[in-house]
Amino acid sequence: MTASDTHTTQLAVPDGTRTAGGGGPAGWSPDSWRGRPAAQQPDWPDPEELRGVENTLALRPPLVLPEEILDLRRSLAQVAAGEGFLLQAGDCAERFGSCTEAGVRGKLRVILQVAILLTYGSGLPVVKVGRIAGQFGKPRSRPTETVDGVELPAFRGDIVNRPEFTAEARRPDAGRLLSAYHHASAALNVLRALTLGGYADLGQVHDWNQEFVRRSAAGQRYETAADDITRALRFMAACGVDTRSQAALHQVQLYTSHEALLPQYEQALIRYDEKRRGWFDTSAHMLWIGDRTRRLDGAHVELLAGVDNPVGVKVGPSTGAADLRELCERLDPDRAPGRLVLISRLGAGRGGELLPPLLRAVRDAGHTPVWACDPMHGNTFVSESGYKTRRLSDITTEVAEFFAVHREEGLHPGGIHLELTGDDVTECLGGDLDEVLDTHLASRYETACDPRLNAAQSIELAFRVAEFLRE
Ligand code: PEP
Ligand code: MN
Repeated sequence: MTASDTHTTQLAVPDGTRTAGGGGPAGWSPDSWRGRPAAQQPDWPDPEELRGVENTLALRPPLVLPEEILDLRRSLAQVAAGEGFLLQAGDCAERFGSCTEAGVRGKLRVILQVAILLTYGSGLPVVKVGRIAGQFGKPRSRPTETVDGVELPAFRGDIVNRPEFTAEARRPDAGRLLSAYHHASAALNVLRALTLGGYADLGQVHDWNQEFVRRSAAGQRYETAADDITRALRFMAACGVDTRSQAALHQVQLYTSHEALLPQYEQALIRYDEKRRGWFDTSAHMLWIGDRTRRLDGAHVELLAGVDNPVGVKVGPSTGAADLRELCERLDPDRAPGRLVLISRLGAGRGGELLPPLLRAVRDAGHTPVWACDPMHGNTFVSESGYKTRRLSDITTEVAEFFAVHREEGLHPGGIHLELTGDDVTECLGGDLDEVLDTHLASRYETACDPRLNAAQSIELAFRVAEFLRE
Protein backbone atom coordinates (compact mmCIF):
# COMPACT_ATOMS: atom_id res chain seq x y z
CA MET A 1 0.00 0.00 0.00
CA THR A 2 1.43 3.37 -0.95
CA ALA A 3 0.71 6.71 0.64
CA SER A 4 -1.42 7.71 -2.32
CA ASP A 5 -3.74 4.78 -1.64
CA THR A 6 -4.89 6.23 1.64
CA HIS A 7 -7.49 8.93 1.54
CA THR A 8 -8.73 8.86 5.08
CA THR A 9 -9.31 12.18 6.72
CA GLN A 10 -9.11 12.76 10.43
CA LEU A 11 -12.44 13.16 12.10
CA ALA A 12 -13.15 15.73 14.79
CA VAL A 13 -14.91 13.81 17.51
CA PRO A 14 -16.76 16.57 19.36
CA ASP A 15 -19.39 17.24 16.73
CA GLY A 16 -18.79 14.28 14.44
CA THR A 17 -19.57 16.54 11.49
CA ARG A 18 -20.14 14.66 8.26
CA THR A 19 -17.69 15.34 5.52
CA ALA A 20 -19.35 16.49 2.34
CA GLY A 21 -19.88 13.60 -0.03
CA GLY A 22 -22.13 11.48 2.13
CA GLY A 23 -21.78 7.91 3.21
CA GLY A 24 -24.10 6.30 5.74
CA PRO A 25 -27.90 6.36 5.75
CA ALA A 26 -29.88 9.62 5.90
CA GLY A 27 -29.51 11.30 9.27
CA TRP A 28 -26.50 9.22 10.21
CA SER A 29 -23.26 10.68 11.50
CA PRO A 30 -20.42 9.10 13.45
CA ASP A 31 -21.98 10.43 16.65
CA SER A 32 -25.67 9.87 15.86
CA TRP A 33 -25.59 6.90 18.27
CA ARG A 34 -25.33 9.36 21.16
CA GLY A 35 -28.65 9.80 22.89
CA ARG A 36 -29.79 6.33 21.93
CA PRO A 37 -29.94 3.59 24.57
CA ALA A 38 -26.53 1.91 24.85
CA ALA A 39 -26.69 -1.41 26.67
CA GLN A 40 -23.73 -2.93 28.55
CA GLN A 41 -21.85 0.31 29.19
CA PRO A 42 -19.46 0.95 32.07
CA ASP A 43 -20.36 3.69 34.48
CA TRP A 44 -17.51 6.03 33.42
CA PRO A 45 -16.68 8.05 36.52
CA ASP A 46 -15.22 11.07 34.71
CA PRO A 47 -16.97 12.12 31.45
CA GLU A 48 -14.42 14.89 30.86
CA GLU A 49 -11.55 12.44 30.98
CA LEU A 50 -13.42 10.12 28.62
CA ARG A 51 -13.97 12.95 26.14
CA GLY A 52 -10.28 13.85 26.33
CA VAL A 53 -9.32 10.26 25.49
CA GLU A 54 -11.74 10.22 22.56
CA ASN A 55 -10.16 13.38 21.17
CA THR A 56 -6.70 11.88 21.49
CA LEU A 57 -7.77 8.64 19.78
CA ALA A 58 -9.38 10.57 16.94
CA LEU A 59 -5.94 11.91 16.02
CA ARG A 60 -4.27 8.49 15.95
CA PRO A 61 -3.64 6.68 12.66
CA PRO A 62 -6.16 4.06 11.58
CA LEU A 63 -5.35 0.51 12.67
CA VAL A 64 -6.61 -0.95 9.40
CA LEU A 65 -7.19 0.70 6.04
CA PRO A 66 -10.35 1.03 3.92
CA GLU A 67 -8.80 -0.95 1.08
CA GLU A 68 -8.24 -3.94 3.37
CA ILE A 69 -11.77 -3.63 4.74
CA LEU A 70 -13.16 -3.69 1.20
CA ASP A 71 -10.99 -6.70 0.36
CA LEU A 72 -12.65 -8.55 3.23
CA ARG A 73 -16.06 -7.48 1.93
CA ARG A 74 -15.22 -8.91 -1.48
CA SER A 75 -14.08 -12.18 0.08
CA LEU A 76 -17.24 -12.39 2.18
CA ALA A 77 -19.35 -11.76 -0.91
CA GLN A 78 -17.70 -14.84 -2.39
CA VAL A 79 -18.55 -16.81 0.74
CA ALA A 80 -22.16 -15.61 0.57
CA ALA A 81 -22.27 -16.94 -3.00
CA GLY A 82 -21.27 -20.39 -1.73
CA GLU A 83 -17.72 -20.13 -3.00
CA GLY A 84 -15.87 -19.99 0.29
CA PHE A 85 -16.08 -20.51 4.02
CA LEU A 86 -15.56 -18.07 6.90
CA LEU A 87 -13.47 -19.01 9.92
CA GLN A 88 -13.77 -16.41 12.68
CA ALA A 89 -11.88 -17.41 15.80
CA GLY A 90 -9.87 -16.32 18.80
CA ASP A 91 -10.18 -15.41 22.45
CA CYS A 92 -13.40 -14.59 24.22
CA ALA A 93 -11.60 -11.73 25.98
CA GLU A 94 -8.14 -10.79 24.79
CA ARG A 95 -5.81 -9.58 27.51
CA PHE A 96 -3.38 -6.68 27.13
CA GLY A 97 -0.76 -9.03 28.57
CA SER A 98 -1.19 -11.51 25.70
CA CYS A 99 -0.37 -8.90 23.03
CA THR A 100 3.17 -10.27 22.83
CA GLU A 101 4.95 -12.04 20.02
CA ALA A 102 4.43 -15.42 21.72
CA GLY A 103 0.78 -14.64 22.47
CA VAL A 104 -0.04 -13.60 18.91
CA ARG A 105 1.99 -16.44 17.39
CA GLY A 106 0.16 -19.00 19.56
CA LYS A 107 -3.26 -17.80 18.40
CA LEU A 108 -2.20 -17.49 14.78
CA ARG A 109 -0.79 -21.02 14.84
CA VAL A 110 -4.05 -22.71 15.86
CA ILE A 111 -6.12 -20.53 13.50
CA LEU A 112 -3.81 -21.57 10.64
CA GLN A 113 -4.16 -25.23 11.61
CA VAL A 114 -7.96 -25.10 11.69
CA ALA A 115 -8.04 -23.09 8.45
CA ILE A 116 -5.77 -25.45 6.54
CA LEU A 117 -7.81 -28.47 7.63
CA LEU A 118 -10.98 -26.77 6.42
CA THR A 119 -9.37 -25.79 3.12
CA TYR A 120 -7.81 -29.20 2.61
CA GLY A 121 -10.98 -31.04 3.62
CA SER A 122 -13.46 -28.97 1.64
CA GLY A 123 -11.52 -27.60 -1.32
CA LEU A 124 -13.05 -24.18 -0.58
CA PRO A 125 -11.08 -21.00 0.08
CA VAL A 126 -11.27 -20.14 3.77
CA VAL A 127 -11.58 -16.48 4.78
CA LYS A 128 -9.77 -16.06 8.08
CA VAL A 129 -10.91 -13.48 10.62
CA GLY A 130 -9.38 -13.39 14.11
CA ARG A 131 -11.07 -12.28 17.29
CA ILE A 132 -7.77 -10.55 17.75
CA ALA A 133 -5.98 -7.18 18.02
CA GLY A 134 -8.88 -5.43 19.74
CA GLN A 135 -11.25 -7.97 21.33
CA PHE A 136 -10.89 -6.34 24.73
CA GLY A 137 -14.44 -5.41 25.81
CA LYS A 138 -17.02 -7.78 27.29
CA PRO A 139 -20.76 -7.65 27.86
CA ARG A 140 -21.63 -9.21 31.23
CA SER A 141 -24.73 -10.99 32.50
CA ARG A 142 -24.63 -8.88 35.71
CA PRO A 143 -23.28 -5.32 36.09
CA THR A 144 -21.77 -6.07 39.49
CA GLU A 145 -20.16 -8.98 41.29
CA THR A 146 -20.61 -9.73 44.99
CA VAL A 147 -18.03 -11.65 47.03
CA ASP A 148 -18.42 -12.14 50.78
CA GLY A 149 -20.99 -9.38 50.93
CA VAL A 150 -18.81 -6.89 49.00
CA GLU A 151 -20.34 -5.63 45.73
CA LEU A 152 -18.08 -4.20 43.00
CA PRO A 153 -18.52 -3.44 39.28
CA ALA A 154 -18.06 -6.51 37.06
CA PHE A 155 -14.84 -6.94 35.07
CA ARG A 156 -15.76 -5.69 31.59
CA GLY A 157 -12.51 -6.52 29.83
CA ASP A 158 -9.08 -4.89 29.80
CA ILE A 159 -10.38 -1.94 27.77
CA VAL A 160 -12.51 -0.89 30.77
CA ASN A 161 -11.07 -2.12 34.07
CA ARG A 162 -8.97 -4.86 35.71
CA PRO A 163 -10.15 -8.28 36.90
CA GLU A 164 -8.77 -8.15 40.48
CA PHE A 165 -11.54 -7.91 43.03
CA THR A 166 -10.70 -4.50 44.50
CA ALA A 167 -12.59 -1.24 44.18
CA GLU A 168 -9.53 0.35 42.60
CA ALA A 169 -9.13 -2.33 39.92
CA ARG A 170 -12.80 -2.47 39.02
CA ARG A 171 -13.24 1.28 38.61
CA PRO A 172 -13.76 1.98 34.87
CA ASP A 173 -10.71 3.87 33.61
CA ALA A 174 -11.05 5.82 30.35
CA GLY A 175 -7.25 5.80 29.97
CA ARG A 176 -7.60 2.11 29.16
CA LEU A 177 -9.28 2.97 25.83
CA LEU A 178 -6.02 4.52 24.77
CA SER A 179 -4.09 1.57 26.10
CA ALA A 180 -6.40 -0.76 24.13
CA TYR A 181 -5.56 1.12 20.94
CA HIS A 182 -1.82 0.77 21.59
CA HIS A 183 -2.07 -2.93 22.46
CA ALA A 184 -4.20 -3.59 19.38
CA SER A 185 -1.64 -1.75 17.30
CA ALA A 186 1.25 -3.79 18.73
CA ALA A 187 -0.61 -7.07 18.24
CA LEU A 188 -1.48 -6.11 14.67
CA ASN A 189 2.12 -5.26 13.93
CA VAL A 190 3.30 -8.74 14.98
CA LEU A 191 0.39 -10.32 13.16
CA ARG A 192 1.22 -8.55 9.92
CA ALA A 193 4.88 -9.60 10.24
CA LEU A 194 4.02 -13.24 10.97
CA THR A 195 1.44 -13.59 8.22
CA LEU A 196 3.64 -11.98 5.57
CA GLY A 197 7.04 -13.09 6.73
CA GLY A 198 7.19 -16.84 6.43
CA TYR A 199 5.54 -18.18 9.58
CA ALA A 200 2.30 -18.70 7.67
CA ASP A 201 4.17 -20.38 4.76
CA LEU A 202 2.48 -23.66 3.79
CA GLY A 203 5.91 -25.24 3.93
CA GLN A 204 5.67 -24.78 7.73
CA VAL A 205 2.44 -26.75 8.03
CA HIS A 206 4.14 -29.35 10.28
CA ASP A 207 5.64 -26.70 12.54
CA TRP A 208 2.22 -25.33 13.48
CA ASN A 209 1.49 -28.60 15.28
CA GLN A 210 2.57 -28.45 18.90
CA GLU A 211 4.04 -31.31 20.85
CA PHE A 212 1.07 -31.70 23.21
CA VAL A 213 -1.34 -31.82 20.27
CA ARG A 214 0.71 -34.52 18.52
CA ARG A 215 -0.20 -36.95 21.30
CA SER A 216 -3.91 -36.78 20.40
CA ALA A 217 -5.66 -38.77 17.70
CA ALA A 218 -6.65 -35.47 16.05
CA GLY A 219 -3.03 -34.31 16.21
CA GLN A 220 -1.90 -37.52 14.50
CA ARG A 221 -4.53 -37.06 11.80
CA TYR A 222 -3.26 -33.51 11.38
CA GLU A 223 0.26 -34.87 10.77
CA THR A 224 -1.10 -37.13 8.03
CA ALA A 225 -2.93 -34.23 6.37
CA ALA A 226 0.21 -32.09 6.67
CA ASP A 227 2.23 -34.90 4.98
CA ASP A 228 -0.28 -34.91 2.10
CA ILE A 229 -0.03 -31.14 1.72
CA THR A 230 3.77 -31.24 1.75
CA ARG A 231 3.72 -34.00 -0.87
CA ALA A 232 1.30 -31.99 -3.04
CA LEU A 233 3.63 -28.98 -2.89
CA ARG A 234 6.58 -31.15 -3.94
CA PHE A 235 4.48 -32.64 -6.74
CA MET A 236 3.60 -29.18 -8.04
CA ALA A 237 7.25 -28.11 -7.93
CA ALA A 238 8.28 -31.32 -9.74
CA CYS A 239 5.72 -30.55 -12.46
CA GLY A 240 7.49 -27.25 -13.05
CA VAL A 241 5.16 -24.94 -11.13
CA ASP A 242 7.33 -22.28 -9.56
CA THR A 243 5.81 -22.61 -6.10
CA ARG A 244 8.31 -20.11 -4.66
CA SER A 245 6.73 -17.27 -6.61
CA GLN A 246 3.17 -18.09 -5.53
CA ALA A 247 2.44 -15.61 -2.73
CA ALA A 248 -0.72 -17.51 -1.81
CA LEU A 249 1.42 -20.44 -0.65
CA HIS A 250 3.71 -18.34 1.51
CA GLN A 251 1.49 -15.71 3.07
CA VAL A 252 -1.99 -15.55 4.54
CA GLN A 253 -4.43 -12.75 5.04
CA LEU A 254 -5.77 -12.80 8.57
CA TYR A 255 -8.36 -10.08 9.10
CA THR A 256 -9.15 -8.66 12.54
CA SER A 257 -12.47 -8.33 14.34
CA HIS A 258 -13.99 -7.56 17.70
CA GLU A 259 -17.36 -6.80 19.27
CA ALA A 260 -18.11 -3.08 18.80
CA LEU A 261 -19.15 -2.74 22.43
CA LEU A 262 -17.87 0.71 23.42
CA PRO A 263 -19.27 3.27 20.96
CA GLN A 264 -16.91 6.04 22.10
CA TYR A 265 -13.87 3.97 21.15
CA GLU A 266 -15.35 2.93 17.80
CA GLN A 267 -16.48 6.47 16.91
CA ALA A 268 -13.02 7.83 17.65
CA LEU A 269 -11.57 5.45 15.03
CA ILE A 270 -14.16 6.09 12.32
CA ARG A 271 -12.62 7.88 9.34
CA TYR A 272 -14.10 9.28 6.15
CA ASP A 273 -12.51 8.02 2.96
CA GLU A 274 -12.70 10.64 0.25
CA LYS A 275 -11.90 8.34 -2.62
CA ARG A 276 -14.50 5.75 -1.69
CA ARG A 277 -16.97 8.31 -0.36
CA GLY A 278 -17.71 6.33 2.73
CA TRP A 279 -17.07 5.97 6.45
CA PHE A 280 -14.89 3.19 7.81
CA ASP A 281 -14.41 2.00 11.37
CA THR A 282 -10.65 1.58 11.25
CA SER A 283 -10.39 -0.20 14.63
CA ALA A 284 -10.73 -3.58 12.86
CA HIS A 285 -11.71 -5.02 9.50
CA MET A 286 -14.95 -6.51 10.78
CA LEU A 287 -17.05 -5.48 13.79
CA TRP A 288 -19.93 -7.33 15.31
CA ILE A 289 -22.93 -6.51 17.48
CA GLY A 290 -23.46 -8.87 20.41
CA ASP A 291 -26.63 -10.71 21.33
CA ARG A 292 -27.14 -8.32 24.25
CA THR A 293 -26.69 -5.09 22.28
CA ARG A 294 -28.60 -5.73 19.06
CA ARG A 295 -31.75 -3.73 19.82
CA LEU A 296 -32.94 -1.99 16.69
CA ASP A 297 -33.19 1.52 18.15
CA GLY A 298 -30.02 1.13 20.23
CA ALA A 299 -26.67 2.88 20.00
CA HIS A 300 -24.71 -0.11 18.69
CA VAL A 301 -26.92 -0.73 15.67
CA GLU A 302 -26.98 3.00 14.87
CA LEU A 303 -23.19 3.25 15.05
CA LEU A 304 -22.51 0.40 12.65
CA ALA A 305 -25.36 1.24 10.27
CA GLY A 306 -23.26 4.02 8.75
CA VAL A 307 -19.84 2.44 8.32
CA ASP A 308 -18.84 0.39 5.29
CA ASN A 309 -17.12 -2.46 7.17
CA PRO A 310 -18.56 -5.95 7.11
CA VAL A 311 -20.87 -6.12 10.13
CA GLY A 312 -21.69 -9.20 12.16
CA VAL A 313 -24.79 -9.68 14.28
CA LYS A 314 -25.09 -12.38 16.91
CA VAL A 315 -28.41 -14.15 16.60
CA GLY A 316 -29.47 -15.77 19.88
CA PRO A 317 -32.55 -17.85 20.70
CA SER A 318 -34.65 -14.80 21.58
CA THR A 319 -34.30 -13.30 18.07
CA GLY A 320 -37.65 -13.18 16.28
CA ALA A 321 -37.88 -13.42 12.50
CA ALA A 322 -39.51 -9.98 12.23
CA ASP A 323 -36.83 -8.38 14.46
CA LEU A 324 -34.10 -9.93 12.40
CA ARG A 325 -35.65 -8.70 9.19
CA GLU A 326 -35.72 -5.15 10.56
CA LEU A 327 -32.13 -5.41 11.71
CA CYS A 328 -31.07 -6.56 8.25
CA GLU A 329 -33.02 -3.72 6.64
CA ARG A 330 -31.27 -1.21 8.90
CA LEU A 331 -27.77 -2.62 8.45
CA ASP A 332 -28.00 -3.82 4.86
CA PRO A 333 -30.55 -1.64 3.04
CA ASP A 334 -28.67 -2.09 -0.26
CA ARG A 335 -28.69 -5.90 0.05
CA ALA A 336 -24.98 -5.95 -0.65
CA PRO A 337 -23.32 -9.37 -0.50
CA GLY A 338 -20.34 -9.23 1.87
CA ARG A 339 -21.89 -6.61 4.15
CA LEU A 340 -23.68 -8.81 6.69
CA VAL A 341 -22.54 -11.82 8.68
CA LEU A 342 -25.34 -13.34 10.73
CA ILE A 343 -23.87 -15.46 13.51
CA SER A 344 -26.37 -17.89 15.01
CA ARG A 345 -25.68 -19.01 18.59
CA LEU A 346 -28.76 -20.97 19.51
CA GLY A 347 -27.52 -23.95 21.55
CA ALA A 348 -27.29 -27.64 20.66
CA GLY A 349 -30.69 -29.18 19.96
CA ARG A 350 -32.38 -25.87 19.07
CA GLY A 351 -31.25 -25.13 15.50
CA GLY A 352 -33.76 -27.47 13.86
CA GLU A 353 -36.65 -25.49 15.28
CA LEU A 354 -35.30 -21.93 15.56
CA LEU A 355 -33.08 -21.54 12.49
CA PRO A 356 -35.38 -22.24 9.48
CA PRO A 357 -37.79 -19.29 10.09
CA LEU A 358 -34.81 -16.94 10.50
CA LEU A 359 -33.08 -18.16 7.33
CA ARG A 360 -36.30 -17.82 5.37
CA ALA A 361 -37.16 -14.36 6.70
CA VAL A 362 -33.76 -12.98 5.72
CA ARG A 363 -33.69 -14.69 2.33
CA ASP A 364 -37.26 -13.64 1.46
CA ALA A 365 -36.36 -10.02 2.25
CA GLY A 366 -33.64 -10.22 -0.42
CA HIS A 367 -30.51 -10.22 1.76
CA THR A 368 -27.62 -12.55 1.03
CA PRO A 369 -25.65 -12.56 4.29
CA VAL A 370 -22.96 -14.99 5.24
CA TRP A 371 -24.62 -17.25 7.80
CA ALA A 372 -22.08 -18.45 10.34
CA CYS A 373 -22.48 -20.75 13.32
CA ASP A 374 -21.19 -19.78 16.76
CA PRO A 375 -21.58 -23.09 18.59
CA MET A 376 -19.98 -21.69 21.76
CA HIS A 377 -22.31 -19.13 23.36
CA GLY A 378 -25.52 -21.17 23.40
CA ASN A 379 -23.80 -24.09 25.11
CA THR A 380 -22.27 -22.53 28.22
CA PHE A 381 -23.13 -23.89 31.67
CA VAL A 382 -21.62 -24.04 35.14
CA SER A 383 -20.23 -27.47 35.92
CA GLU A 384 -20.51 -29.27 39.26
CA SER A 385 -17.01 -28.11 40.14
CA GLY A 386 -18.19 -24.52 39.68
CA TYR A 387 -16.49 -23.61 36.37
CA LYS A 388 -18.19 -21.96 33.40
CA THR A 389 -17.66 -24.53 30.67
CA ARG A 390 -18.88 -26.07 27.39
CA ARG A 391 -18.90 -29.63 26.04
CA LEU A 392 -17.08 -30.30 22.77
CA SER A 393 -19.91 -32.74 21.98
CA ASP A 394 -22.56 -29.98 22.26
CA ILE A 395 -20.40 -27.68 20.14
CA THR A 396 -20.09 -30.33 17.43
CA THR A 397 -23.83 -31.07 17.60
CA GLU A 398 -24.76 -27.42 17.09
CA VAL A 399 -22.49 -27.18 14.04
CA ALA A 400 -23.98 -30.41 12.61
CA GLU A 401 -27.50 -29.02 13.04
CA PHE A 402 -26.49 -25.74 11.43
CA PHE A 403 -25.21 -27.60 8.37
CA ALA A 404 -28.27 -29.87 8.21
CA VAL A 405 -30.74 -26.97 8.32
CA HIS A 406 -28.84 -25.05 5.65
CA ARG A 407 -28.80 -28.08 3.37
CA GLU A 408 -32.57 -28.53 3.85
CA GLU A 409 -33.19 -24.87 3.05
CA GLY A 410 -30.92 -24.95 0.01
CA LEU A 411 -28.59 -22.33 1.54
CA HIS A 412 -24.82 -22.27 1.97
CA PRO A 413 -23.56 -22.88 5.52
CA GLY A 414 -21.10 -20.00 5.34
CA GLY A 415 -18.84 -20.25 8.34
CA ILE A 416 -18.04 -20.94 11.96
CA HIS A 417 -17.25 -18.63 14.84
CA LEU A 418 -15.12 -20.15 17.61
CA GLU A 419 -13.53 -19.24 20.91
CA LEU A 420 -10.21 -21.05 20.96
CA THR A 421 -6.59 -20.79 22.04
CA GLY A 422 -3.37 -22.47 21.00
CA ASP A 423 -2.56 -23.13 24.65
CA ASP A 424 -3.00 -26.42 26.46
CA VAL A 425 -5.84 -25.17 28.65
CA THR A 426 -8.62 -27.14 30.35
CA GLU A 427 -11.68 -24.96 29.92
CA CYS A 428 -14.05 -26.97 27.67
CA LEU A 429 -15.04 -30.58 28.43
CA GLY A 430 -14.32 -33.54 26.14
CA GLY A 431 -11.87 -34.21 23.32
CA ASP A 432 -9.78 -37.23 22.57
CA LEU A 433 -6.53 -36.05 24.19
CA ASP A 434 -6.67 -36.99 27.87
CA GLU A 435 -10.38 -36.14 27.66
CA VAL A 436 -11.01 -33.04 29.74
CA LEU A 437 -13.33 -33.96 32.62
CA ASP A 438 -15.00 -31.72 35.17
CA THR A 439 -12.31 -32.65 37.69
CA HIS A 440 -9.62 -31.35 35.29
CA LEU A 441 -11.08 -27.88 34.74
CA ALA A 442 -9.29 -26.40 37.76
CA SER A 443 -5.81 -27.39 36.54
CA ARG A 444 -5.42 -24.97 33.60
CA TYR A 445 -8.50 -22.76 33.53
CA GLU A 446 -6.97 -19.52 32.25
CA THR A 447 -9.63 -17.62 30.33
CA ALA A 448 -10.51 -14.06 31.32
CA CYS A 449 -14.14 -14.69 30.37
CA ASP A 450 -15.67 -17.63 28.47
CA PRO A 451 -14.17 -21.15 28.15
CA ARG A 452 -12.14 -21.74 24.96
CA LEU A 453 -11.31 -24.86 23.01
CA ASN A 454 -7.67 -25.83 23.41
CA ALA A 455 -5.55 -26.57 20.32
CA ALA A 456 -6.26 -30.32 20.32
CA GLN A 457 -10.02 -29.82 20.73
CA SER A 458 -9.98 -27.17 17.98
CA ILE A 459 -8.29 -29.56 15.54
CA GLU A 460 -10.69 -32.35 16.40
CA LEU A 461 -13.61 -30.00 15.67
CA ALA A 462 -11.97 -28.81 12.43
CA PHE A 463 -11.91 -32.38 11.08
CA ARG A 464 -15.62 -32.74 11.82
CA VAL A 465 -16.47 -29.41 10.18
CA ALA A 466 -14.43 -30.39 7.10
CA GLU A 467 -16.50 -33.59 6.91
CA PHE A 468 -19.76 -31.62 7.15
CA LEU A 469 -18.50 -29.33 4.38
CA ARG A 470 -17.82 -32.32 2.12
CA GLU A 471 -21.19 -34.00 2.66
C1 PEP B 1 -18.89 -13.26 22.62
O1 PEP B 1 -18.82 -13.47 21.41
O2 PEP B 1 -17.92 -13.35 23.40
C2 PEP B 1 -20.23 -12.94 23.19
C3 PEP B 1 -20.38 -12.31 24.35
O3 PEP B 1 -21.21 -13.39 22.40
P1 PEP B 1 -22.80 -13.16 22.43
O4 PEP B 1 -23.02 -11.71 22.21
O5 PEP B 1 -23.26 -14.02 21.31
O6 PEP B 1 -23.30 -13.65 23.77
MN1 MN C 1 -17.48 -15.21 24.72
